[in-house]
Amino acid sequence: MSNGRSRRSVEGLKSRLTTSGSATEKGIIPLNPQDPPLILPLTVIAGDQTESAPPPAPVGAMSVGELRDSHHRVIRDLRLSITDRCNYRCTYCMDPDFRYMPKKELLSLEEYLTLARVCVSLGVEKIRITGGEPTMYPQLNEVIEYLGSLPLRDLALTTNGSLLDKKPLRRWHAAGLKRITLSLDSLQPDRVKAITRTNTGPETVIRAIEIAREAGFDPIKVNAVIMRNVNEDEIADFADFAREHDIDMRFIEFMPLDSSRTWDRSKVVTADEMLEKISTRHELVPLDQSDPHSTSLNYTFADGAPGRIGIIAPVTRVFCGACSRLRITADGKVRPCLFSHKEWDIRPVLRSGGSDEDIAAFLRDATWTKQKGHGISEAGFVQPERTMSAIGG
Ligand code: SF4
Repeated sequence: MSNGRSRRSVEGLKSRLTTSGSATEKGIIPLNPQDPPLILPLTVIAGDQTESAPPPAPVGAMSVGELRDSHHRVIRDLRLSITDRCNYRCTYCMDPDFRYMPKKELLSLEEYLTLARVCVSLGVEKIRITGGEPTMYPQLNEVIEYLGSLPLRDLALTTNGSLLDKKPLRRWHAAGLKRITLSLDSLQPDRVKAITRTNTGPETVIRAIEIAREAGFDPIKVNAVIMRNVNEDEIADFADFAREHDIDMRFIEFMPLDSSRTWDRSKVVTADEMLEKISTRHELVPLDQSDPHSTSLNYTFADGAPGRIGIIAPVTRVFCGACSRLRITADGKVRPCLFSHKEWDIRPVLRSGGSDEDIAAFLRDATWTKQKGHGISEAGFVQPERTMSAIGG
């Protein structure tokens, strides 16, 4: 560990981690986010190939301090999943009877922090903390405080917002968390219940927007996954919502990462359709789209109203060519691409006392294997076994 403070805090953490452990570590799933939990048996993820060590990248393929793939893309953005636990069961992500991974399969706090620190030493500038639902992770404060101490350009958290009112948002903001991204797939209470399979509603996210803004987070992004015949009739209403709450409302094309494996292309509402639906009510002005690594097409309202619109179109406006993302799952799998069928298990290196250089070499080799793109539109596309909740988005 680099500085005395993190060494002391990790030591303190280690001693705390070996005590009884919180409810979430026992694979417990509440139906109402505030309700006491139920206990369920466990299963494993089958299908995708998990290998212990990636083949070595060619000598000289990349300089020591960087992560580069064989398509000459440099990794600058880490998506770090710190739990597979979630208090929602969104229809496009998790089945009602989803089984969590056994606790011993998941990385320890120190392992997450070590991986993040080594990634930063390899050129990563942005980290997004994901899950499952990261606010269910008992040591989230420690994660944010440690990552906030690293030389990052950006540190963000993706959450469904349902537990934010119980979290120390001002402490997170002071520690270096820069952005909070929420998710809301409908403005209709019954539909929110149906999509998330919980008894929450739009008011849960509206409350989360308010308390996040009070704590200093601005702008606030809200993501909605748009699915045909489910919620595409609300797109213009969501644009009104963005204006009313002065937020970045981002619409995401439905991707084949659902555990019910019911995705097919006919269920995708395309970026063009989304823009057309918004323009029936509001004229949009494109914002600077010059960042090749951005996944979002961004717009403001021509009439100068508050709020912005973002369209994330991985299916119809593929952005793989400039992809700068790497993912590490809660159970220590390095996934070079969201749609990887191969993932590399870094736990043996971590749990056999591997040095920073051993970890760095593993990450370099794994990154080199990154596939060119998701291939969703290609003949023979096969949906990965691992679902979004077990990848982290
Ligand atoms: S699908 Fe893979 S290559 Fe494409 S943008 Fe996502 S992570 Fe990058």
